[in-house]
Amino acid sequence: MSYMESVVTRFAPSPTGALHLGGARTALFCYLFARKHQGKFILRIEDTDRERSRKEYVDEILAALQWLGLQWDDEPVYQSQRTDLYQQAAQRLIDSGNAYRCTCTIDELEAMREEQKKLGENPKYDGRHRQSNLGADIERFVIRFKNPQVGEVSFADLVQGDVHVGNDELDDMVIMRMDGSPTYNFCAVVDDIAMGITHVVRGDDHLRNSLRQCNLYDAMEVQRPKFAHLPLILNSSGARLSKREGAYNILDYQARGILPEALGNYMARLGWSHKDQEIFTSAELVELFDLKSIQKSPAQYDEQKMLWVNHNYIKNQTNADLCPILLSLLDKQQVDISNDKVPLEAIIGLHKERCEDMNKLAEELICYYKEPTYDSYNKEELAEYLTARTMPALNKLNEGLQGLEQWDAASIKDLIKQLVAQDADIKFPDIAMPLRLAITGTTSSPSIDKVAELLGKDESLARFARMLQQA
Ligand code: GLU
Repeated sequence: MSYMESVVTRFAPSPTGALHLGGARTALFCYLFARKHQGKFILRIEDTDRERSRKEYVDEILAALQWLGLQWDDEPVYQSQRTDLYQQAAQRLIDSGNAYRCTCTIDELEAMREEQKKLGENPKYDGRHRQSNLGADIERFVIRFKNPQVGEVSFADLVQGDVHVGNDELDDMVIMRMDGSPTYNFCAVVDDIAMGITHVVRGDDHLRNSLRQCNLYDAMEVQRPKFAHLPLILNSSGARLSKREGAYNILDYQARGILPEALGNYMARLGWSHKDQEIFTSAELVELFDLKSIQKSPAQYDEQKMLWVNHNYIKNQTNADLCPILLSLLDKQQVDISNDKVPLEAIIGLHKERCEDMNKLAEELICYYKEPTYDSYNKEELAEYLTARTMPALNKLNEGLQGLEQWDAASIKDLIKQLVAQDADIKFPDIAMPLRLAITGTTSSPSIDKVAELLGKDESLARFARMLQQA
């Protein structure tokens, strides 16, 4: 098969929760593989579980995929709207002798299981209606697939290698429930066929399902797709990452100031690698991604590394590219930058190296647009810096700054150095720190001479003078 024309992958989330890291990594790999081969990436919402599926989760999943830039092709497909298709497919399986109606009640199935346990057997449906040929006229029934009873089913997984199981270990699974709704294994296969999916890429928790699904493909006499089962992701404490762990909700990463490209890059490295490269552009990921380079063993989530990747992206994005996100973050904090003289792009350049996430960067930029209020200063720090020992030098700094003709970082720094040279008792931080506190409201910022240059002479001096009055 030529990949160039024909790759079709799909991401098939169940909207029973928000999109989390594991699901998003699956979506990313499906997306990259399809884009690499100029194929299609399809989104299928598996919402047949009527009780647990929620519209809010669908919206969140779509928003998270869009935020990550994993744009799907065509309209999303909703399984809840395709019941007819599944019913027809089930009927065809009955007609070809590959499926049958079963009237077992829950109590009967429970009794069957108890009996098998007593005999030391693995509990499974015993196939008691396999030959009953029950017609559609009975009132309550499920439809079961006639799984082969002998031999084994196997396939060559593109990541895991050969996978197989004896058919005697698989029972006749339900494909249509009593209420006429299809079960996952069945509608996944019907849809994968209908949508022309060539590569099924999903988590390795689906390996056994894939074996069952292979039997369905064979019964339907349709060529099986290729399968690639992705290794687990373990959480930071080494346990399996679960959808229920809210900490890994994709939209939370957005709220935490993680850049979508950075999270995508980080996720790509969860189980996949290319030499020892860590940072990839989106184009490089599409070009280099390869199912063959996915590891079999579990990947482990590493928060510090994720932040390191994010920091890397923040540092290397252009200031202009970071502007829109910062504008929206500043806007959320009601910081109005519209009338100010300090250009956002210039200050981003000074601060971005220091910030691991966009929230921190936005936080650092606020001081250019909003004077820190004295209430917000740490009083202990004020007391530490404004002392009888430092005040004479600080007053001299104030005068010196006022007299500066050239307001730039180098001149400000020279002035501080001169004052330090004049007085053996005074060190550089004794002067620089109070100036920093006055200007930014904090004791951590880029070189204060550079900050002061960007903030401008009038505003910097006004803030410094107001601080000195506190002494
Ligand atoms: N709805 C299934 C899940 O969320 C999809 C599995 C598949 O990709 O077939 O796990």
